[in-house]
Amino acid sequence: MSEQKTKVVIAGGGTAGWLAAAALSQQLGSAVEVALVESAEIGTVGVGEATIPPMKTFHRLLRIDEQEFMRTTHATFKLGIQFENWRVEGEKYFHSFGTTGRDTLVSEFIHFWLRGRDMGIAKDFGDYCVEFKAALENKCSTQGDTKVNHAFHLDAGLYAKYLRTFAESHGATQVEGNIAEVLQDNNSGYITGLRMASGDIVSGDLFVDCTGFRGLLIEQTLHAGYESWEHWLPCNRAVAVQTASVRDPVPYTRSIAHHAGWRWQIPLQHRVGNGTVFCNRYMSEDEAIAKLLADIQGDVITEPRVIQFQTGRRRKNWVKNCVAMGLSSGFLEPLESTSIHLIMTSIMRLLQLFPGKDIQQATIDEYNMQAAIEFELIRDFIILHYKATEREDSKFWRYCKRMDIPESLAHRIDLFRETGKSYQKEGELFRLDSWTQVMLGQGIYPKRYHPMVDSMQAQELERFLHATAANVAAVVDSMPPHEKFLAEYCAI
Ligand code: FAD
Repeated sequence: MSEQKTKVVIAGGGTAGWLAAAALSQQLGSAVEVALVESAEIGTVGVGEATIPPMKTFHRLLRIDEQEFMRTTHATFKLGIQFENWRVEGEKYFHSFGTTGRDTLVSEFIHFWLRGRDMGIAKDFGDYCVEFKAALENKCSTQGDTKVNHAFHLDAGLYAKYLRTFAESHGATQVEGNIAEVLQDNNSGYITGLRMASGDIVSGDLFVDCTGFRGLLIEQTLHAGYESWEHWLPCNRAVAVQTASVRDPVPYTRSIAHHAGWRWQIPLQHRVGNGTVFCNRYMSEDEAIAKLLADIQGDVITEPRVIQFQTGRRRKNWVKNCVAMGLSSGFLEPLESTSIHLIMTSIMRLLQLFPGKDIQQATIDEYNMQAAIEFELIRDFIILHYKATEREDSKFWRYCKRMDIPESLAHRIDLFRETGKSYQKEGELFRLDSWTQVMLGQGIYPKRYHPMVDSMQAQELERFLHATAANVAAVVDSMPPHEKFLAEYCAI
């Protein structure tokens, strides 16, 4: 066994690159030497500001102080996503990060709620979830009995800077400049180094491709291949623009569907991130820019920027001695804010399977298998939002409503519609609560509930539902407004 340090070279200094540099340098310490190559001239994609709760676990692993992180990245709290106009125009629903009601071992809360709804004694499903009610009442707390399950909205540029400082404090080094050529061993095809435009060579044992959509190492050099999911997720363009805040930030992301896709609104402490995601078969770039600028509020502080993408995934995320992370590993549109999360799970997977200098094919295969399963499960959840629409008002929505979907998703929808059952598979990000909230929100109502619920007396059910909702309301009542809590939390 070699006791020499493994030289890890990270190509790219966006969120993916700096997250990888921060985690590898901090977690593997003297077992690695981490160098990150980035180009100010090429720049980063500059979006990616809404996150999901597992980010807290990743930060805890790195011992990142939440208050310091929030102060530095001008972050706000996020308790979920409000989906507007997705089922039909003029309606909205909420996917919260919370748990709705209390499950029993045999049957989930939704079954009690379904019977209560049939009897006319149930409130809205969201009234049984603290995070849902808190978000809509603009409340938040992460402490004591009123602690919510939260994530963040953050400034992507400030986050990358924060991570850079963190990574460098743990020994990672940065090389500035354009990569002109990727050098490979003639026999094995392994990458041996990156030749910079300056002529310098950055050599290494293991290369992490974080070069964004271009996939300079994993695709342009190692030809990993790309599996397109455009037929299920046809959006292929985004326009992003930042505006000045016109009101206090709410603790949720807004996702507002329009005739050819949807628009996001992400409130930060100092500004708002806006963007539109669309399919260029149904809306031109010029039209998308004009519509976005007409729909947003507040002074525009950046030029609208068009970003092209193709939904899908790299067929192999790890090839030879190169692991792709972030946009170079595949792309799922930001509807459920999953990209930064996927970067974090890729890093965790690499840490757990870290090969040192001696890379085994079995390690590569295991990594690729886990990555493929994770990506596909999230893909299905995102397709659900499009497929389960009732909109018929545009070609785009008619296409989505009628398109074929993966068998795995079709089964979930059938099962829920017939029985009210949903499930979380092993290795799956989205919990049962998420599936249930989005299915209901998109108008998929179960035909029946679990028979066990009928064993409860009607009065007992009424008391149970009433007590659950009353408890949620009491917790939310005692929470401070989001803006107040945020100001105090970040001031400490
Ligand atoms: P990039 O930011 O593109 O970084 C690539 C890096 O590689 C740069 O440093 C660049 O300079 C460098 N590079 C490239 N080529 C060379 C070269 N030849 N020489 C030297 N350096 C080079 N994610 C979320 O979690 N939440 C969201 O709300 C969200 N919203 C999004 C909205 C849109 C429209 C898009 C497109 C993505 C969104 N994402 C979101 C995804 C998120 O933006 C990315 O996952 C994240 O920013 C990571 O990007 P990256 O680091 O992989 O790539």
